[in-house]
Amino acid sequence: MLKGIAASQGYGIGKAVIINDISTDYSNVKYTDAQSEKARLQKAVDDFIEETRSLASSLKESAGEKEAEILEGHIVMLSDPFMLSQMEESIDAGSVAEKAVDTVCNMFIDMFSSVDDELTNQRASDVKDIRDTLLKSLLGIKSIDISAVDAGSVLVAKDFTPSMTGKINKNNVAAIITEVGGVTSHSAILARAMGIPAVLSVVNATQSIKDGMEIIADGFKGKVITNPSDNEKSKYTSLQEEYLKEKESLKAYIGKETVTGNGIKKQVYANIGKPEDVQNVLQSSGEGIGLFRTEFLFMDRASEPNEEEQFEAYSTVARAMNNKEVIIRTLDIGGDKDIPYLHIEKEENPFLGHRAIRYCLDNPALFKKQIRAILRAAVFGNIKIMLPLVTCLEEVRDAKKLIAECEKELEAENKKYNTVPLGVMIETPSAVLISDLLAQEVEFFSIGTNDLTGYTMAVDRGNAKVSKLYDTFQPSVLKAIEITIRNAKKAGIQVGMCGEAAADSRLIPRLIEWGLDEFSVTPGSILQTRKTICEYKA
Ligand code: PEP
Ligand code: MG
Repeated sequence: MLKGIAASQGYGIGKAVIINDISTDYSNVKYTDAQSEKARLQKAVDDFIEETRSLASSLKESAGEKEAEILEGHIVMLSDPFMLSQMEESIDAGSVAEKAVDTVCNMFIDMFSSVDDELTNQRASDVKDIRDTLLKSLLGIKSIDISAVDAGSVLVAKDFTPSMTGKINKNNVAAIITEVGGVTSHSAILARAMGIPAVLSVVNATQSIKDGMEIIADGFKGKVITNPSDNEKSKYTSLQEEYLKEKESLKAYIGKETVTGNGIKKQVYANIGKPEDVQNVLQSSGEGIGLFRTEFLFMDRASEPNEEEQFEAYSTVARAMNNKEVIIRTLDIGGDKDIPYLHIEKEENPFLGHRAIRYCLDNPALFKKQIRAILRAAVFGNIKIMLPLVTCLEEVRDAKKLIAECEKELEAENKKYNTVPLGVMIETPSAVLISDLLAQEVEFFSIGTNDLTGYTMAVDRGNAKVSKLYDTFQPSVLKAIEITIRNAKKAGIQVGMCGEAAADSRLIPRLIEWGLDEFSVTPGSILQTRKTICEYKA
């Protein structure tokens, strides 16, 4: 049996699919002669063009013209005789085909990255994609298509990047197992959002588990059983049935008002990452969206979504929620959320670096596109804007200036928009300490305990070695929460919580006592959270 961190509840029983980090090391490939190397290169290029062409045509149907154009651009680039002849020259000089591809592509990547122009920089990412695909093809490496695994697959990987998680088809994935990450890592958050059991931080999982092995993943206890006995299989099958039955019984809370046992009205909202998640929220009668993590709209694609695409996403959510509150968090990137095409510089301490509101304020063109899309979408529902990772008043004031600029621009362009209430996430000790002042500047707070716990305890939220210290129940974190709620109440503004702790049945009674108004949880936890609140008695 292997041990890890229980990160998403449920029992997953199925067959392992190992998703390895793919190494494209070609140091062992031997040079034969120029003619054969060139033939290998030509075959890889031909295969690339053929596959990319068919991918582009299926993408045109599933995702639209624009996404397909990016892939067609790859074909054009690789068909450029200059690029190919450079590779052939490198082969003539004694390089194996892999080295020729690597060297020539890297030369283009350096060239495109050094230009201070977004579109040209984008071409560097395109060449990176071409390089990696060609290298894999030359080395005969087949990468697994996560979106196409068989039903009952238990996915095992070192880690899942948010874009990998985005490809998961929840109907086919029985469980997720990783070697790194904790309860609040993004793989965990997404696994919970999709209702997939997950066990994270299992040491050497990709080595000790073999492809095709029978697996039981216990998302409650953080256990992984490999090659289970018949006894174990029947034990976990009945545990799974029981769990599903319990989940079924929570359905009694669908459509029920969230009122504590002593008559105080509360709100159970949901955290979402994509417009599609709203379906799950409505199914559990979530009373609003307390956190729309908009960074997911920016992930798993080759360039940033334009204003229209964002407007489409935000207004779809606003409409679907039918005038219920929708709190849209502005782009929260950096830290563990990398978006390659934004070219965020590598930093020594990314969690303390150029991320979230800091990045957005320094990139006003990108930020304003998002703000404009939100203001325009606000015509279709009850939208609020929320700023992530705020640490000082200036950030809020600067954001307000940009919002005012956007309103003026929209006015001048005769475009329909609505002004929207502004709030901040309280997820740094600094924000807690000035929460009395922040409360004078904004109309609501939402406590982000995932980051607040990490920053207060000075612990990396994804590092298994220090996970013991990552504990929202530490007195310092509880005090930070209490102070924030107190200052919000004093100023008479709404205060919610959108960190994972909002769904913790051990913490909910305290949050009620302190006066928290709104609990924003993953869609799968709405009913359990409502039940815990309804059962609370002073
Ligand atoms: C948080 O930090 O609590 C939060 C909700 O934001 P995220 O998990 O997206 O960083
Ligand atoms: Mg956060």
